[in-house]
Amino acid sequence: MTNPHTALTIVGSIGIDTIETPAEKHEEILGGSASYACAAAAFFTHCGMVGVVGTDFPPAFRRIWSDMNIDLEGLRTVEGKTFRWSGVYEENMDNRRTLSTELNVFETFSPELPDSYCEAPYLFLGNIHPALQLHVLEQVHSPKFILIDTMDLWINIDRPDLEKVIGKCHMLTLNESEAQLFTGAHTLSQAARQLLELGPEYVLIKKGANGSMLFSRGEIFLLHAYPLEQFKDPTGAGDTFAGGLMGALAASGRTDLEAIRQAMVYGSITASFGVEEFSLDRLARLDRVEIEERVAGFKEMCRL
Ligand code: AMP
Repeated sequence: MTNPHTALTIVGSIGIDTIETPAEKHEEILGGSASYACAAAAFFTHCGMVGVVGTDFPPAFRRIWSDMNIDLEGLRTVEGKTFRWSGVYEENMDNRRTLSTELNVFETFSPELPDSYCEAPYLFLGNIHPALQLHVLEQVHSPKFILIDTMDLWINIDRPDLEKVIGKCHMLTLNESEAQLFTGAHTLSQAARQLLELGPEYVLIKKGANGSMLFSRGEIFLLHAYPLEQFKDPTGAGDTFAGGLMGALAASGRTDLEAIRQAMVYGSITASFGVEEFSLDRLARLDRVEIEERVAGFKEMCRL
C-alpha cells in the first residue's frame, strides 16, 4: 500500500528472530525495530516503513504489515538473506543475552526514502548505525518532530556520529542502562541533564516494567508501566512504545509537552499489549477500542 500523505516515517531494522524464554522458544519469527514501531504507530496514523529485507523474506510476514495498513513503499528487497537475531531471556525475564546476530543484507543497507516520505512531518529514527540516521536526516524536508533511538553498541563504537545526530533531533529515547553507559552519571536526572546538553528538547528514559521518565529543561514527567499479570516476550517493547508514541503524536498534529505526555500513555499501553505474545502476534489481533479501554483503565489507576 502506498499513500502520498505519509504522516510518520519510521526507519529501523527488520529481523527474523529466534527467541527463547524460560517457558517457550519461537524460531524465525518477525521482528526488528521498524517492524515493532510501525505495527504500533499504524493504530494511530499513516506510517511508512524504511528498511531492508532479503529475497528469503516470507510473503506472509509482508502480509502482516499490509494488513496493519503500514505503507511499504520504503521497504527494499535485495538479493541475499534477511537480518537474523537470536536471544535468550533468563528466569526473571529481566536479563536478555544475545546468542547470535547475522547482519546479512542489513550490513550494506543505506536507507533511501521515497519522495512521499521526505515530506512527513514526524520521523522516528529507530536503532541503526548513527551514520545511517544522519543520512536519513539529509533526505527529509524539515520535519516538525524527530525521535531518535539507539543502543549500547553505537554508544561504544561511534559516539561522535551519535552525538551529532542526537543534536539534530527533538527527542532522544534510550533505556536506563544505556543512559548510564552514555553519561557515566549515577542518577537518571543527572544523565538526562547531560543528554539534554547534546541538543534535544526531550530525553525519554525507559525503565522496562518500571515505566519511563521524560525530561525536558525544567520539567519531568513520570509514567508508570501498565501492570500486567503476565507477559510472554518483552522483545521490541521499547520500539513498540516509541512507535505508538510517535503515531499518537502525529495523529494529534502537535509537538507540545502536553501532547507528548498523552502520546507516551498511548505508546506505553500499546507496548503493554505487544509483550503479551511473541512477535507481532498480539498487535495483529489488537484494535483501537481495546487500546482506548486500557488507556482509560490506566488513567483511573494514576488518578490523584
Ligand atoms: P529490543 O527488544 O528493543 O532490543 O528490540 C528487539 C529487536 O531488535 C529484535 O526484533 C531484533 O530483530 C532487533 N535487533 C537485534 N539486534 C539488533 C541490532 N544490532 N541492530 C538493529 N536491530 C537489532
